[in-house]
Amino acid sequence: MEYEAIIGLETHIQLNTETKIFCNCKADSWGEPPNTNICPVCTGQPGVLPVLNKAVAEKAVLLATAMHAEVQRVSYFDRKNYFYPDLPKGYQITQFDRPIAIGGYLDLPMPEGYTRRVHIIKLHIEEDAGKTKHANGYRLIDFNRCGVPLIEMVTGPDLRSADEAAQYLIRLRQLVRWLGISEGNMEKAHIRCDANVSIRPKGADYLNPKTEIKNVNSIEAVREAIATEIQRQIREVEAGGKIEPWTLEWDEDAGVLRKMRSKETEADYRYFREPDLLPLVMDDEWKARILADFPELPLERRARFMAQYGLPEYDADILTTERALSDYYEAALQAYNGDPKRVSNWVINEVLRLLNERGLSADQLKVTPQYLAMIIRLVDKGTVNTSTGKALVVKVEDSGKPPKQIVEEEGLAQVSDAGALRAICEKIVAANPKEVEKYRSGKTSLIGWFVGQVMRETRGKANPKEVQKILRELLG
Ligand code: ZN
Ligand code: MN
Repeated sequence: MEYEAIIGLETHIQLNTETKIFCNCKADSWGEPPNTNICPVCTGQPGVLPVLNKAVAEKAVLLATAMHAEVQRVSYFDRKNYFYPDLPKGYQITQFDRPIAIGGYLDLPMPEGYTRRVHIIKLHIEEDAGKTKHANGYRLIDFNRCGVPLIEMVTGPDLRSADEAAQYLIRLRQLVRWLGISEGNMEKAHIRCDANVSIRPKGADYLNPKTEIKNVNSIEAVREAIATEIQRQIREVEAGGKIEPWTLEWDEDAGVLRKMRSKETEADYRYFREPDLLPLVMDDEWKARILADFPELPLERRARFMAQYGLPEYDADILTTERALSDYYEAALQAYNGDPKRVSNWVINEVLRLLNERGLSADQLKVTPQYLAMIIRLVDKGTVNTSTGKALVVKVEDSGKPPKQIVEEEGLAQVSDAGALRAICEKIVAANPKEVEKYRSGKTSLIGWFVGQVMRETRGKANPKEVQKILRELLG
């Protein structure tokens, strides 16, 4: 029997607002001492009132629009009641039956060549809870994260494999960074994910009971945890067993799923309208202001790079991983005003390496797109050779000086003068009689070694093509 997996994801995205959702405490307290970014509001003291941070609603509208969801003119806040030590109010302020956005989808281009459309059921805003940890027989509580703004987004049961689930997170992370609404750093738990997993015979149209995997917090963990659970369910069903609606926790180090508790139903939370907050009214004027400079989205830009510049899918994909990088590419291409693929090669190989090595984003580079275009032009014209050109990318980044100035100051211009090169080649040939003999008795691959010697002699400035031509003549 062949099975297919039915997977839906619930993600929580931490927004990068300055302050928390209902008070003026700093929202991002990563790495700070426990309980330093707290106040009476976010710790639920008597007599305080929450006030909605408008930036939270604005960022939710940006994401909803990118997801093609329908932004609701009026949405409401609700209390989700439960007891947990890291939830000082005894309830979480969230949105239940009237969320800020409904519907929508995200398309996932899969490496295999097909596109999976994942529907979004709803998107709502809510506050985060605190954190508990156990140490020395005590339970310690850090309230810093109480009231940190989150968007929760729930997909339909549209994903069919662990790889598709991983791809959803990759594209979601790309999107939230692109929109500038979240740092999207999974190591810092900016995106947290719960997965609902069930299986059924391939082609069937009913749904079997599902299990929920909680808190898988890296893309690789999502892939592994879901793949493990699919296999477990298949084994269970094949052995004549039944799938129970368990809640499971992924133990990343051991690579196993552990049963947590049986699942609560929504009714257990006794949701009711939050009496201390007004309905959130997203009028046309506010919405228009939020969407005034809504960007071209990553998948649209990726498609345009292929259509407009004739780039291969591979290049278009890499160049659009980050918005700043794709802006950089287009600015460099415009300044260069030539072959788009040539600029793409320089950006993907040289610029991306620099960004990775230095942990920078493309808009922080001192090698501006204009400087990169100048460097490629210097190589095109033969003023410098390719390896000097690559070195120039780093030199410009280190000094901030224009490429031409560095070429002059450091005497990097390529030596193409045939007379000067011939003299050096003759010297190298005369100094290495053994290699010359080997070359002449048939080991012609030594040509590369001879070119290398000349390049060393000229400190990398010789025109390698010219050198090779002269050497072949001399070694004849
Ligand atoms: Zn606070
Ligand atoms: Mn939630």
